[in-house]
Amino acid sequence: MPVEIYLTASEEETISLGETLARRLPSKAVVLLIGNLGAGKTTLAKGIVKGLGVAEPEQVSSPTFTLIHEYGPSCYHIDLYRLDREREVETLGLEEIFEKEAVILIEWGERFRSLMPPLRIEINIEAKAEDIREIRFELKADS
Ligand code: ADP
Ligand code: MG
Repeated sequence: MPVEIYLTASEEETISLGETLARRLPSKAVVLLIGNLGAGKTTLAKGIVKGLGVAEPEQVSSPTFTLIHEYGPSCYHIDLYRLDREREVETLGLEEIFEKEAVILIEWGERFRSLMPPLRIEINIEAKAEDIREIRFELKADS
C-alpha cells in the first residue's frame, strides 16, 4: 500500500495540506486521524472540511463532547476519545454512517479497530518539534 509523508511547520500549513488531500479523497471514504493529543488531528480535519467545501475552518470544532459533527450530507467528523468500551461505540450507529456517500473523519478510531471498515485511509500525525508535524497518509485494506 502506498504511503505518503508530509512535513508541516505551522497550523496553517496543516490546514492547507488538509485542503489538498481533500481534493484527492473519494466521495465515500473513512479516514482515521491518528496521533496524540495536540498532534493536529482536528486541525487537519479543518483543512479537509474546508477543501471539501462543506464548512469554513472556523466552524469546525473538536467533537470531543458531541462525538459526531455532521457537515451536510457528505461529511462527518467523529471523535471517540471519550469512549472506553466497544459497547459504547456500537450505540453510535457508525455502521449506518459508514454506508453513506460521505467523507467520514474519525479521531481515536484506531482504539476500536474491529469496528472500523476494513478499507480505509489512515493519516498518522506526529509532533517532531514544537510546530513541526510529520503527516503520513496511507491506504489500508485489512483482510
Ligand atoms: P488534536 O486534535 O490532535 O488533539 P489539535 O488539532 O486540536 O490536535 O491541536 C493541535 C495543536 O498544535 C494546535 O494548538 C496547533 O496550533 C498546534 N500546532 C503547532 N504546529 C502545528 C502544525 N504544524 N500542525 C498542526 N497543529 C500545529
Ligand atoms: Mg482533536
